[in-house]
Amino acid sequence: MNPRYLILLFVVTLGVAAQALPPYYVTLLNYIGLYTLVVLGLVLLTGVGGMTSFGQAAFVGLGAYTSAWLTTASPEQIPGWLAWATASPWLTLLVGVTLTVVVALILGALTLRLSGHYLPLGTIAWGLSLYYLFGTVESLGGHTGVSGLPSITLLGWTLDQGNKIFYLIWAVLLVAMLLTQNLLDSREGRAIRALKGGQVMAESMGVNTFRAKMVIFVISAVFAALSGWLYAHTQRFVNPTPFGLNMGIDYLFMALIGGVGSVWGALLGSGILTMLKQWLQDWLPVLMGNSGNYETIVFGILIVLLMQRAPGGLWPMLVKLFKPRGKKVKTVAINSERELPRRQLPKAGSVILEARHVTRRFGGLVANNDMNLEVHAGEILALIGPNGAGKSTLFNQLSGVDTPTSGEVLFMGERVNGVRSRLMARNGMSRTFQHVKLLPTMSVLENVAIGAHLRGHKGLLAATLRLDRREEADLLAEARRQLERVGLGDYLHEEAGSLALGQQRIMEIARALCADPCLLLLDEPAAGLRLKEKEALGILLSRLRSEGMAILLVEHDMDFVMGLVDRVVVMEFGQRIAQGLPEEVQKDPAVLEAYLGGAE
Ligand code: ADP
Ligand code: MG
Repeated sequence: MNPRYLILLFVVTLGVAAQALPPYYVTLLNYIGLYTLVVLGLVLLTGVGGMTSFGQAAFVGLGAYTSAWLTTASPEQIPGWLAWATASPWLTLLVGVTLTVVVALILGALTLRLSGHYLPLGTIAWGLSLYYLFGTVESLGGHTGVSGLPSITLLGWTLDQGNKIFYLIWAVLLVAMLLTQNLLDSREGRAIRALKGGQVMAESMGVNTFRAKMVIFVISAVFAALSGWLYAHTQRFVNPTPFGLNMGIDYLFMALIGGVGSVWGALLGSGILTMLKQWLQDWLPVLMGNSGNYETIVFGILIVLLMQRAPGGLWPMLVKLFKPRGKKVKTVAINSERELPRRQLPKAGSVILEARHVTRRFGGLVANNDMNLEVHAGEILALIGPNGAGKSTLFNQLSGVDTPTSGEVLFMGERVNGVRSRLMARNGMSRTFQHVKLLPTMSVLENVAIGAHLRGHKGLLAATLRLDRREEADLLAEARRQLERVGLGDYLHEEAGSLALGQQRIMEIARALCADPCLLLLDEPAAGLRLKEKEALGILLSRLRSEGMAILLVEHDMDFVMGLVDRVVVMEFGQRIAQGLPEEVQKDPAVLEAYLGGAE
């Protein structure tokens, strides 16, 4: 069945349920809706973006308390410049969301650069601080909280009962799910999806990964604050308990159990956990007597079991159950024949990239010692040398990943020492990696489309509202064109991780080409390729050269290099020991000694 009909059926069922079910169940459904909204943020942040947050409950509290305070405090307590907001919960929502965005931006700036365990610990720290703040501030009612909140009115309708506010909660949730889904399926969404495991790669394709992290952090905080606002006006009472660390952990459980990578997993996870808690609370006392907190213990055990049995979450399992033979990645239709604007390539023979007296020390080790090298437009230059000669070190400095200790790197005539790889990408440098960097569960097409990141311009708003479809089709068409160019046209909708290593390397070249570069940097592109694949790669690189592309390649495979490139630079012990035409270099005694005669 078409998923659209399923969703329609779901919405209709919900609409009827609110009227048909007893109030107890409607209340439960309301809670599920409220939780799902928070968990949806976690799907973005943790599932897609790879950042674990224990602090979402604090943002829920921020939304709830802002509205609670503004709608109940006596007029003299509220500063004059905020007086306008007390008139309606809709205005306090505006204040709450604004406050949340500001707080999230500050917390994000402080914590999102932290790596490894520090980020989750950071979220625990601010989660706790906000929780204690709610409990301590006197005008927020301390631990007793704030009561007497007004109901929300919408178009003259007062949402003062569970089965009325139900519609608002679920409408907000469904819209949030739709917008999130849209966002993920876009150029910005690809950048966000690359955060988990592909940050170095994404940066070198021009993605500002810090900004992408901040974006999902703020969005997830806003979803939480929205949920808090709805909660506050559903209960019409708030106290600090639901915004503590315990709840922060529960939200994370819901996300993990539902399936942290998918929007629908958020709903499933919150649904299952909410019902489970409720049933345990209702039934365990009957079975085991009223003494002791058995439900917490049993709940804990069940969570561990669920995670054991379904480590990726229940949603992916459910999907698999219904279409066992289905393709894992979605096939997208590419309905565009338009070509993206191209960059003006530099004049053939002009110097594009230059290393001048580049020295790089790692402590006492001199990995590059006074290296000089020039790459001209329209030529293929090979950088060769035995293992440990310092090739990758130089490569990293040329591509903006590393900075020389002394000396200069010039790209298109400008000094670029210490310039980020993202900015180099903007000026036309594009690269592949010695150890392939791809997003294994994403389709080949989408992996390659990341390369075209800088060639699109539609932002977040356009993406969430689906106003980017034309541009998106153009970007995907470009990705397909580059994949066809390198001979991978038959693999567009395969999972990138399922390709053979040789194909993955070629796919990286297609991704680099998608950026419309004037200079390609390739780190050992022939490694792991079979003879036929090497020949095809050689033909491809020659063709690119004839189209005016400059190519610098680091390579071990002498046969591959000698038949293909225009000039060779040979390194040993961090120094240049020879350069020239392949046939000259091949005869150079120093080279024979160092490289060809060696163990290689
Ligand atoms: P190649 O790519 O030619 O095999 P590399 O550039 O990787 O050589 O390494 C050159 C030398 O620099 C090696 O001795 C290596 O151990 C050292 N080296 C490379 N990167 C680092 C680093 N980040 N820290 C310390 N030493 C390094
Ligand atoms: Mg190397």
